[in-house]
Amino acid sequence: MKLEDLPIRDDLRGRTPYGAPQIDVPVRLNTNENPYGPSASLVTDLAEAVRHSAAGLNRYPDRDAVALRQDLAAYLGHDLTTEKVWAANGSNEVLQQILQAFGGHGRTAMGFEPSYSMHPIITSGSSTEWISGAREEDFGIDPDKAVAAIEEHRPDIVFLTSPNNPTGTALDPSVIARIVQAAPGMVVVDEAYFEFARTGTPSALVLLPDNPRLIVTRTMSKAFAMAGTRLGYLAADPAVIEALLLVRLPYHLSTLTQAAARVALAHQTELLGTVDLLRAERDATVEWLRGEGLTVADSDANFVLFGRFPDRHAVWQGMLERGVLIREVGPPEWLRVSIGTAKEMAAFRAALEGTL
Ligand code: PMP
Repeated sequence: MKLEDLPIRDDLRGRTPYGAPQIDVPVRLNTNENPYGPSASLVTDLAEAVRHSAAGLNRYPDRDAVALRQDLAAYLGHDLTTEKVWAANGSNEVLQQILQAFGGHGRTAMGFEPSYSMHPIITSGSSTEWISGAREEDFGIDPDKAVAAIEEHRPDIVFLTSPNNPTGTALDPSVIARIVQAAPGMVVVDEAYFEFARTGTPSALVLLPDNPRLIVTRTMSKAFAMAGTRLGYLAADPAVIEALLLVRLPYHLSTLTQAAARVALAHQTELLGTVDLLRAERDATVEWLRGEGLTVADSDANFVLFGRFPDRHAVWQGMLERGVLIREVGPPEWLRVSIGTAKEMAAFRAALEGTL
């Protein structure tokens, strides 16, 4: 049986799935994970929480994950409370639920590209039409042009990614505020990398009290160093969360996931303790790449987009042969490297020098 022989939805024919290569090489700098694993004492606490939960695994989990949402609200601050916070299996699932509730057949979602490749994939997966808006040469968003594009297309959902993946570009809340004002529907600010922003970059959370159609999404996969836990979350008006309850699967967050995420939140000082290190390593990487004569996008995230290479695949391959996996993503002549440990970044620099 071949895929094309199946009675698959017409709008899925010919599409390719999300596919960051998972290759077992010594230095993996391709999916923007935090390179630092949990400490021995955190591992012990996680194991204890799982042991404690295991005795009750004959029962379904708390369907509304109330205790976890309470902890997430406390972490976010900004006067947020449980009814303004929602969680799911990774922010990808949060985004999917948003599309299920506010998108769908006959509706549109718009993003400003290059941006996170899953936004259009999740959009088309929910039979929503994707509209691609443009970013500027420096990968920022020009608010006048964005407002004009929104007024022309009247999308039901607008995606803004800040800091943006794969470029690292953060948006000023004044730009976001103008877009929210112009947008006729929901505006999603994907802040997966917010904790890595250079100090002084405010979160779109400051705009929530005045904008009930704004949703800010976050994840524990990046700064929180918990990608394997699969825990994403959002903050929004309580009515938005009521809408999401209509589409979420019952008991979507397992007891074990909820327990692990709560333990991670209780250890936030340790887990987020690596953010400063990663920021410093990022800034040093930007400087080094520029010193090599390469073009490098300013980054507020835990990765750096650099180029330009007429044959980027050859550079990616050369790096892989030297044991360093980076990412072929974004505009055609650019490559992205996730920030690893000092040792991993030394390996990255040596591999790039050997390749170029
Ligand atoms: N948003 C952005 C911008 C991302 O880059 C990613 C992960 N690559 C996600 C959301 C999804 O992350 P997760 O599902 O692990 O929370």
